[in-house]
Amino acid sequence: MTQLTDGFGRRFPYLRLSLTEACNFRCSYCLPDGYQADGRPTFLDVDEIVRLVRAFATLGMHKIRLTGGEPSLRKDLEQIIARVAGVPGIRKIAITTNGTLLPRRLPGWHRAGLTALNVSMDSLQRDRFHAITGHDRQPEILQGIALAQELGMESIKLNAVLLRGLNDNELPAWMAFLRDRPVSVRFIELMRTGDNAAYFERHHLRADVVVDQLLAAGWRLRPRAADAGPAREYTHPDHRGSIGVIAPYARDFCQGCNRLRVTARGDLRLCLFGEFGVPLRPLLQHEDDRDALLARITTQLGLKAAGHGLHQGQTGLTPNLASIGG
Ligand code: SAM
Ligand code: SF4
Repeated sequence: MTQLTDGFGRRFPYLRLSLTEACNFRCSYCLPDGYQADGRPTFLDVDEIVRLVRAFATLGMHKIRLTGGEPSLRKDLEQIIARVAGVPGIRKIAITTNGTLLPRRLPGWHRAGLTALNVSMDSLQRDRFHAITGHDRQPEILQGIALAQELGMESIKLNAVLLRGLNDNELPAWMAFLRDRPVSVRFIELMRTGDNAAYFERHHLRADVVVDQLLAAGWRLRPRAADAGPAREYTHPDHRGSIGVIAPYARDFCQGCNRLRVTARGDLRLCLFGEFGVPLRPLLQHEDDRDALLARITTQLGLKAAGHGLHQGQTGLTPNLASIGG
């Protein structure tokens, strides 16, 4: 089968597809004032999504992550999952969600074909969680995670953004949390975006700090699979869960890049922090445009840069991660 490859030999088995820019949270590093609708065209509909996923699957893509904004705000999410699951070649469907709707909706998504769940939870402390996200909804999220375990979901991961002065003393609590739970926590180093420069200066914490603490506590780096993404995964014999560290400012971060993004309005984004988007939506309207769509995707991939310009403070087009699909 054809494999999507860029000019640096990186392969792309993995697409992150944003379903919406809207969100019901106000995370302080992402949408501190909440989502503001701007009256521009609506987000991709189910048929457009299926045409897009079919094209990527033809090119060897086998995993799709649904993200946003908050993807669970899409009323047709269950239908989207079922239709994407029916595309030949798609083996994994993951979602990244803030988790508020898990208790009500997860069984339906799971039945429709969802295989992996990432839930964002920046703090284990309810009051801090409330302060960071603007919403006191941690109990539902914990309930949702327990439900995912009961349903036997293939992969359950929690995302926590590292925030200096806000949640940087919780590593011992996370380790206790992981002792008996077979889930993975991903600590993500805060990324600077177009909108959060002052916040970044106050709260950015290098991921190395956490890595040093993990090593000191006896956690060890798991050997990386050849097709592993950018997270470095640590395990400990006394703990059922694992800890991943995502360090976008690390020197070799972009070498491991195995993902492409498509925004909720159908723009292909080659890098989270790239300078341009490639409109695919005009080619998602008819089955007849399939060859032109495949040609546009493969040609554009040849233009993917070796790495992002975050070290130089370049954030590309990205005002916040909700706008592109984090
Ligand atoms: N709303 C969903 C959620 O929060 O899980 C999905 C979209 S959100 C943009 C995806 C992930 O990006 C979340 O785990 C969030 O914490 C993370 N994120 C958002 N802004 C970020 C930033 N500036 N730096 C690092 N991670 C960020
Ligand atoms: Fe919403 Fe996710 Fe951004 Fe938080 S991180 S504001 S939940 S899109």
